[in-house]
Amino acid sequence: MDERLRILIVEDEPAIADTLVYALRTEGFAPEWCATGRAGLAALRAKPFALVVLDVGLPDGSGFDFCKEIRAGSAVPVLFLTARNTELDRVLGLELGGDDYLTKPFSPRELTARVKAILRRTNGGPLRTHAETAEARGVSPTGQAREIEIDEERCLVRYRGQELQLTRYEYRLMKALAAKPGRVFSREQLMSAAWEDPGASLDRTVDAHIKTLRAKLHAVASDRDPIQTHRGLGYSLCSA
Ligand code: CA
Repeated sequence: MDERLRILIVEDEPAIADTLVYALRTEGFAPEWCATGRAGLAALRAKPFALVVLDVGLPDGSGFDFCKEIRAGSAVPVLFLTARNTELDRVLGLELGGDDYLTKPFSPRELTARVKAILRRTNGGPLRTHAETAEARGVSPTGQAREIEIDEERCLVRYRGQELQLTRYEYRLMKALAAKPGRVFSREQLMSAAWEDPGASLDRTVDAHIKTLRAKLHAVASDRDPIQTHRGLGYSLCSA
């Protein structure tokens, strides 16, 4: 079996795992299922996989911790499965080393589309180093878009070397977008990443802050707009 098609599923709920196995197999992948994080790590040590679908809530620990263990020895792409928004906040942080996430419940079609997109982006990454994989995605090894730098310690953004004067929400939106250049974020996802109480605001609040953010980027360089609008879907940050 071609290792580029082999996908490891680490998920403790058999019904979800069955759905994942079936969906991936239908698309021509060779999925293998482990029900615990420990079993997943052992499977990864035994042979190469093209991608890991990693549930966050596992019976023997957190998917985030298992991801760190995976990252200690491998740059294999990791797609997190999350159940709660509180988990989502952590997924959006760069330090975990995941490549993307899906929030439950999701459709099998969403999963296979996401898996294919990651594999396209990372170009079958298991044989590359983490830095090479990042480079191939058009981001620096720290996960930031090249022309946009996020300084998390000082909570500021530099665009083409120039420091932007951003509001708190503009900064948080930028940070969320820059965590995954090229990835389309829905307004809902951006809102839960940037607002303490997402329920209190309306969708168009995101639009309003994106608009002011764009104006500030435009003031630095007017040749292009690094933030792309995807009609009916949301926004993404250009990956190059
Ligand atoms: Ca679970």
